[in-house]
Amino acid sequence: MAYIISDDCIGCGACEGECPVSAISEGDGKYVINADECLDCGACAGVCPVGAPQAE
Ligand code: SF4
Ligand code: SF4
Repeated sequence: MAYIISDDCIGCGACEGECPVSAISEGDGKYVINADECLDCGACAGVCPVGAPQAE
């Protein structure tokens, strides 16, 4: 299980610093989550203004 960031992401970067395992990085036009590192904690979803991180 891992969270994924949908195309709704506006690239604000708010989630990046919230991730306890630094699994979020800036991608091409949006932020992306490394599924191998994600702990499924939901912290990124809690700070996202547009609800882009979603549990798979
Ligand atoms: Fe990081 Fe938690 Fe979001 Fe996974 S769910 S990317 S561990 S903040
Ligand atoms: Fe994208 Fe939401 Fe993360 Fe901002 S907080 S970079 S909109 S996923």
